Amino acid sequence: MDKYFEYEKRYKSRPHVVLMGAGASVAAIPDGDKNGMKTSVMDGFIEKLGMSEIISDLKLETDSNNLEDIYAEIAGKPEYKNIRDELDNSIRDYFSAFEIPNSPTVYDYLLLSLREKDLVATFNWDPLLIQAYQRVSKITSKLPDLAFLHGNVLVGYCLEHKHGGNLDNICPECYKPFSPSRLLYPITQKNYNDDLYTADNWKALKNYLSKAYLVTIFGYSAPKTDVEAVDMLKEAWGGAIERNMEDFEFIDIQDEDALISTWSEFVHTHHYSYTTNFFESSLAKFPRRTTEELFDRTQNCHWTSAENPFTQSMTFSDLRNIVGNLVIEEEKHRDGFITLPSA
Ligand SMILES: [Zn+2]
Repeated sequence: MDKYFEYEKRYKSRPHVVLMGAGASVAAIPDGDKNGMKTSVMDGFIEKLGMSEIISDLKLETDSNNLEDIYAEIAGKPEYKNIRDELDNSIRDYFSAFEIPNSPTVYDYLLLSLREKDLVATFNWDPLLIQAYQRVSKITSKLPDLAFLHGNVLVGYCLEHKHGGNLDNICPECYKPFSPSRLLYPITQKNYNDDLYTADNWKALKNYLSKAYLVTIFGYSAPKTDVEAVDMLKEAWGGAIERNMEDFEFIDIQDEDALISTWSEFVHTHHYSYTTNFFESSLAKFPRRTTEELFDRTQNCHWTSAENPFTQSMTFSDLRNIVGNLVIEEEKHRDGFITLPSA
């Protein structure tokens, strides 16, 4: 077997990992959910939950109205356990109410733009990604793996049999209903390993990241408070210098310089691209061919052209056509050995 052929195949079949934060859900429902409800940032969130009075009675040291700051302080004090539970319940109720709009969202496009070798890991609690997954799985079953790094209101699991899935489902072994996943907060000390389900999701992320050829960070800015998450990402990624072949892509509305400085420990100089719009990303321009495109462009020196890009305001039937053809092509070729047409 040709050595170069093997090398090329190895690169092209490596995972594309997408890591998402709150900004991705905002991009998924820019005009609000099915009922016009908008996702909100952590500032002013306590008020939205109707918890301001309860919180102001606590006489906290922080005068911030940011959920992370308030939660961090409450979590550190055992006498506030009831308040913490109450806060947790209102957060669950709030996010559970979100319903994905009827037309395709960025989450539908995103899931369809990746393959089974890839991973979408999210910090978000809202159910939108799972709702998108449920409907795009009617278009193809060849979809990426999912990981929920801070838990999710729609995810449940059976700890005993290590099965996870939609909260409404039952464990396929003991037939008991799944228990809701724990919601983790972006605070300094999170004890990710306290429950097996969260630990497994992080294990999956580490495993995919260690093999990844391309990483997209979508609407996530590695908050300074989330020390444990950043440390685990660092450990999984292995430092920017060791990974000089690989590429980073950012989709974020934040200013480029500010964003890159928060990720400086991960990003090898110049090996990144930045866009404020999902439809300008490799995912939308080269759906299901992102690692092929990266290899052909950087190592085969092809001027790759986007033949089947995803564009804004496509219908599900448009997506079904494009993805259907791409899946047929994938089945015809050995996995990861598709060469993109040159421009
Ligand atoms: Zn079970």
